[in-house]
Amino acid sequence: MLLNPLGSMGRGVKSQHRLAKSTLHMQEIFELTAPFDGPDLDIVHIRLPNTVGKPLSGCEAGTIIYVFTPGEVTVCPYLVFAARTPISQHADTEFIVGNIFTDPDIAQRLDNYHFHDRYPLGVNSTCGSCALSPGCGKGCPAAVIAAGGRIGDVDTEQCPVTIDGHRLLPLIPA
Ligand code: SF4
Repeated sequence: MLLNPLGSMGRGVKSQHRLAKSTLHMQEIFELTAPFDGPDLDIVHIRLPNTVGKPLSGCEAGTIIYVFTPGEVTVCPYLVFAARTPISQHADTEFIVGNIFTDPDIAQRLDNYHFHDRYPLGVNSTCGSCALSPGCGKGCPAAVIAAGGRIGDVDTEQCPVTIDGHRLLPLIPA
């Protein structure tokens, strides 16, 4: 069972402010559902509040493909949805590798795309001086885009160092 909050991209871009539940509410959902995780039921909490201060998971862009109905192929649909949000600094075309109907070399295009070489994550001073950095996947670049940042910025919605704009964990002294 997957559980995730209403995202700030795609369908959630217009409705999040009206319909999204508070952090406290999502935390309660986590606490109510976590005990059901076990051998018979796999409970996966996706981007629920990171109240336990864990480092972030990594980004799978480039290891999956997604095809939109008109044939555009992307390395992650959420990057495209995020790039189409009103405050995005990225263009959706940056993440569309080609069209499965019109580009006969689509497999080669995908092989050559190398998302993480084009867009390194965690390239910012906060991650650069964070004690958790070696074990941190730097979170979701689509969430960074939807929040108006550029890929490489901190995923502040989930990062335990910057969550809610407050530092919860100390940085390594310079
Ligand atoms: S500051 Fe960067 S490296 Fe440290 S926990 Fe947050 S996202 Fe991870």
